[in-house]
Amino acid sequence: MFRSHTCGELTQANINEKVTLSGWVSTLRDKGFMMWIDLRDRYGITQIILDEERSSKELFETARSLGREFVIQVTGTVIERASKNPNIPTGNIEILAETITILNESALPPFTIDDNTDGGEDIRMKYRYLDIRRNPVKNKLIFRSKVAQEVRKYLDAQEFVEVETPVLIKSTPEGARDFVVPSRMNPGEFYALPQSPQTFKQLLMVGGLDRYFQIVKCFRDEDLRADRQPEFTQIDCEMSFVEQEDIMNVFEGLAKHLLHTFKGLEFGDFPRMTFADAMRRYGNDKPDIRFGMEFGEITDLAKGKDFKIFDEQELIVGIAAEGCNSYTRKDIDKLIEWVQRPQIGATGLVWARYNEDGTFKSSVDKFYSQEDLAAWAERMNAKPGDLMLVMSGNTNKVRAQLSALRMELAERLGLRNPEVFAPLWVVDFPLLEWDEESERYHAMHHPFTSPKPEDMELIATNPGEVRANAYDLVLNGNEIGGGSIRIYDKDIQARMFELLGFTPEQAEAQFGFLMNAFKYGAPPHGGLAFGFDRFVSILDGSETIRDYIAFPKNNSGRDVMIDAPSPIDETQKQELFIASTFTGKE
Ligand code: ASP
Repeated sequence: MFRSHTCGELTQANINEKVTLSGWVSTLRDKGFMMWIDLRDRYGITQIILDEERSSKELFETARSLGREFVIQVTGTVIERASKNPNIPTGNIEILAETITILNESALPPFTIDDNTDGGEDIRMKYRYLDIRRNPVKNKLIFRSKVAQEVRKYLDAQEFVEVETPVLIKSTPEGARDFVVPSRMNPGEFYALPQSPQTFKQLLMVGGLDRYFQIVKCFRDEDLRADRQPEFTQIDCEMSFVEQEDIMNVFEGLAKHLLHTFKGLEFGDFPRMTFADAMRRYGNDKPDIRFGMEFGEITDLAKGKDFKIFDEQELIVGIAAEGCNSYTRKDIDKLIEWVQRPQIGATGLVWARYNEDGTFKSSVDKFYSQEDLAAWAERMNAKPGDLMLVMSGNTNKVRAQLSALRMELAERLGLRNPEVFAPLWVVDFPLLEWDEESERYHAMHHPFTSPKPEDMELIATNPGEVRANAYDLVLNGNEIGGGSIRIYDKDIQARMFELLGFTPEQAEAQFGFLMNAFKYGAPPHGGLAFGFDRFVSILDGSETIRDYIAFPKNNSGRDVMIDAPSPIDETQKQELFIASTFTGKE
């Protein structure tokens, strides 16, 4: 028996009991006549004490040979502590040691295993197994596990069947590049790792399973923008004989259940907003609605006043930064520099202070009267004391830029409180998205998404205007889930592939299996996937998904602990029929 109790459970109720604990040496304090060892395991910390009067010389010798992170087993008696520690559950007791056995020694750890460690991110990632011994990391993994169990409980109670789908598959287009795996047994051929189980879950609906879910790894080879991981986890779901409303109801239910279970929050119906409105009001298809600062379009008001810069633009739009009238010229210049950084790429900002006395002072006073500026203020919902910030240019670009500024200001003004939760459904996404580079349409969600029946006719005449039966669940400015009603008619699916630029042969080669399955009585179906890592992190009041992944990759997609990816040796390459040694670096 390694232990009778964990290091987190003994209290005054156990006084005088003889116990055995096992764990890691967290700290050692040696006062000569007395020694204390903080013994740690996953459950907590228990103080071990040795004293000259009651403990043997040999025991002191053993204790003095210990180092940080040694693994030991201690047997002793629970006694009341002289100086109590109210901060930990075991703070009222300590163990008077009788025997100490060293189970394993430890090299000196490269950083302190403490809530506030001295280790930087890189070193902690390299020694992630030591990082996991720290409470902040361990607790996040435990929280994640609890959320996963709750998801399973909820979906199981609603008749969802958990099915595992294969990892070695053929490409599923979800808008990123595939990770590929060469096949030794099929020379020159490759598997792709799933970007999501999309086609498989649809085949499960053809298979009649009716309700499917899976907490599943997905793989996307994309440039790692902030807080993305090349492999991540989805709660992936699909349902048969449903309309958009049915799916939204079930998964709004799941989201509410999790918000209630883990945050104690109750919600009425989640608000809904069309994609077009979200873009117009917030410049973003995942607006953070914890705060206002809505866009006010002033194109019609600002043009034709001899201000050349505005006259040439497609869209002129602004926001009112609450209480920022007090920003000095220097503050504003800094904001202008901020929007001009290449990441945002704006040309500049026009500003107007809304003074407490109701007057305006702006950077364009030469062109606009007090009445003009008052009209702007009305559009932007500005109040005396606010600062109006205006951008202009190409509609899509300007919206993205102003949206970034809105989020930045919200951050600075403390409006993004992680303890406030504002869910929102965004609906009626466009079916297609024009890609400038390839000069053709891409599926905005994925190629299996159904157009809205009432927009079907537009496919031939105005494909860009077709709306999809697609929906995203947004939480605090993050897309935490998205899905759609699917096409289940093979002819419509074929037409969709055509629209996306596939020749019939290409469509057949890549998705023949799906269109073939649709010949055999495919039920109407649809579904959704939640980004599990992100949902968990937001629920826990954080936006860093990396912290909720046991072994995450860094920004270059590397696992610095196991040092992957790494070269493979020549024999392995030969077996896989990989000839090229091109690394792109020569
Ligand atoms: N497969 C989709 C995704 O990964 C989700 C869905 O449409 O159900 O975003």
